[in-house]
Amino acid sequence: MSGRYLLRTFGCQMNEHDSERIAGLLDARGLERTDAVEDADLVLFNTCCIRENADQRLYGQLGRLRAEKARRPGLTVAVGGCLAQKDGADLAARAPAVDVVFGTHNLARLPDLLDTAAASDTPVVEIAAETATFPSTLPAARDKAHTAWVTIAIGCDNSCTFCIVPAVRGREVSRRAADIVAECEMLAADGVVEVTLLGQNVNSYGRDLDGRRPLFADLLRSVDGVAGIQRIRFTSPHPKDLRPETVAAMAECETVCEQLHLPVQAGSDRVLAAMHRGYTAARYLERLESARAGIQDLTVSTDIIVGFPGETEADFQATLDLVEAAQFDSAFTFVYSPRPGTVAAELDDPTPVEEKEDRYRRLTDLQGAISWSRNLELVGRDVEILVEGPSKKDTSRLTGRTRGGKLVHVPDDGNTAPGSLRTARVTGAASHYLTGELAG
Ligand code: SF4
Repeated sequence: MSGRYLLRTFGCQMNEHDSERIAGLLDARGLERTDAVEDADLVLFNTCCIRENADQRLYGQLGRLRAEKARRPGLTVAVGGCLAQKDGADLAARAPAVDVVFGTHNLARLPDLLDTAAASDTPVVEIAAETATFPSTLPAARDKAHTAWVTIAIGCDNSCTFCIVPAVRGREVSRRAADIVAECEMLAADGVVEVTLLGQNVNSYGRDLDGRRPLFADLLRSVDGVAGIQRIRFTSPHPKDLRPETVAAMAECETVCEQLHLPVQAGSDRVLAAMHRGYTAARYLERLESARAGIQDLTVSTDIIVGFPGETEADFQATLDLVEAAQFDSAFTFVYSPRPGTVAAELDDPTPVEEKEDRYRRLTDLQGAISWSRNLELVGRDVEILVEGPSKKDTSRLTGRTRGGKLVHVPDDGNTAPGSLRTARVTGAASHYLTGELAG
């Protein structure tokens, strides 16, 4: 097939990374990217099924495409990603505009599936149960020149009761360390200075490899040795598997950023047990304290779900207490939404929506105040930023990220290219960003 394609991505970094691979495959076939539906010969959605409203948004967009297809019968519509993996042929039946459905394990097959669909009157659906090709080995069209994601493992062996990921992405499969290092070397040769290592649970990296080595800590040390890579991030570690070795490697490796995303999900032991998380609030706080003790200036973020089935006001108060004790730099907060096919979706959920929304507001108010006070502590300090480019809202300013991942806006000195590492003096703080001046 030829022409232009529009690619929309829903969901997490893993999906964004897969979309880079999808774009790489289409570019290699000579297709050009467009942002306008009316210019596109192929519209492609890389979907997420973690939250219910993502499904609704997708089916809404597919419904609107039906009219576009009636006007332009040559338009091809393809749907991949987690929702496609989960729903397969049902998705094509529910959305008649769809020509191709592919899953999370067979990205590499997309060009062939598009060719098959071009010669077929019925939708082409292909879902694979296992990954034959690690997405990172496919060509990529990266959105940013200086930062890149690198997949280190796919799938998850945990069984959090609210989560559909294990059912969709399958068992955990670790990628060989030598392949990860080789990809980082290739990225460095291409001008990348920051890599983010991706896995559903990076701390269990290597458990399925021969001899159960290397551990994640060993991998951090290996990537730290790649010339040209100046910053390493990773996401996400599971709190129950955060090992002292990982903390030690983070402290020891100069290029590993002082940033930890440690999803807690709830502060009540009863709710944590119902979620099947494998730790108590006290254990979580102990691990967090050890990480902070081992790594100077550690920035910590988390995920929190409000209104898990059966959460009482006392349970919710325990979440507020944990948030107060943990003093997170930031938190991704969600109101629980049931995912069909998960254990939690079958649980009684008597709490009214209004009450959950009120808890959500109380939580975000508290975390907003903590984030602001954490950011205020940086005012007057010099921080290293990796410059991303002009600020989206004010092009007279540049945007960069600290090693802790905090956004910093500084006046553009006209002399700083994206991808530069610069020092900024922090002059102001809000709950979601810092302001400063370039120094030196
Ligand atoms: S660790 Fe839990 S929340 Fe994370 S992907 Fe695995 S099952 Fe889902």
